[in-house]
Amino acid sequence: MAEHDVPPTPENYAVWISFATESNPELCASIAARIEAQEAFSESFNAELFAQYFQWRAIQDAVLESGGAMSRELGAVKESLAAAERDTAAYGQALEGASSKLEGVKDENGIKTLVESLVSATAKMQRRSQDLEKRLQETCNEVTQLRSNLEKVREEAMTDALTGIANRKRFDESLRKAKRRADSTKEPLSLVLCDIDFFKRFNDTWGHQTGDQIIRFVAGCLTRHSMEKHLVARYGGEEFGIVMPSTSIADASLIAEKIRKTVESKKLLRKSTNEDLGNITVSLGIANYTGEESIEELIERADTNLYRSKTEGRNRATSDTAASSRDAA
Ligand code: GH3
Ligand code: MG
Ligand code: MG
Repeated sequence: MAEHDVPPTPENYAVWISFATESNPELCASIAARIEAQEAFSESFNAELFAQYFQWRAIQDAVLESGGAMSRELGAVKESLAAAERDTAAYGQALEGASSKLEGVKDENGIKTLVESLVSATAKMQRRSQDLEKRLQETCNEVTQLRSNLEKVREEAMTDALTGIANRKRFDESLRKAKRRADSTKEPLSLVLCDIDFFKRFNDTWGHQTGDQIIRFVAGCLTRHSMEKHLVARYGGEEFGIVMPSTSIADASLIAEKIRKTVESKKLLRKSTNEDLGNITVSLGIANYTGEESIEELIERADTNLYRSKTEGRNRATSDTAASSRDAA
């Protein structure tokens, strides 16, 4: 690990122990290919290795385990319900029996015996229903716990390991949801795509680790300037997306411009050596949902605007022409 500059984190240890013990041929091949290509073990690559070979397996295990526990709980509840059904039937029979016996009872003692048997049957029934209630309460708690575990796992599966913001999976899901909402409420929906300028050159000059530092910095700028209702995601390697429900193209453009300015104005220092990294800039593309297009078309238009920002000199934000935006309608 030291030879390849891999930091000694628990996640990296898990990966490299597996490599050293040759316990996973695919993981071994991935690492061997990276070494062969003489490419650096950047933080993002390390995170991806861990996510691919360990995190996903852990997620899969958690889901299978929760499914098993849920089915065991439901099996136990089914049994308790069947027992309760049998008890209720027996109680019904006891009542019927008592009713027919009542006709044959002649004296006080006979009535007393009959009443005692009814009291005992009722008490038994009461205990049974208390037991059942307790059992159901336990199941309810267990299912709540399982649901929260699954929610945590789902959260992890939707988060980008390098930056801690949403990943592409959540971006897609959020955009689909926002589109459905915009279709029914007729509120505006904006989309911002953002790409770091000349990032390859930056990586080549300063190395992948510093490149990762920049990706995290840009993710932070996007998050800081977005609103609570927006979803900021790492869309690809050095590309980001912001889904902006109930946001006009004018407001989306203002936010995009703020992001652009903040990134441009920040003096960046290399963490490990404090060297001046110069200035980083980003290009952005903004599109407003027309209400008649698919998600792919919306992304395509934002991407076209981003491309225009690139070709017109970078470090700028380009939005739809007013005529094609919902705001103009
Ligand atoms: P442009 O201004 O046209 O966007 O130029 P660019 O160099 O940024 O564009 P290009 O898409 O060619 O390069 C993106 C580079 O980003 C390529 C890849 O080496 C780097 N990259 C992608 N993902 C990661 C990552 O997770 N970490 C680091 N450090 N670099 C990454
Ligand atoms: Mg790119
Ligand atoms: Mg780029």
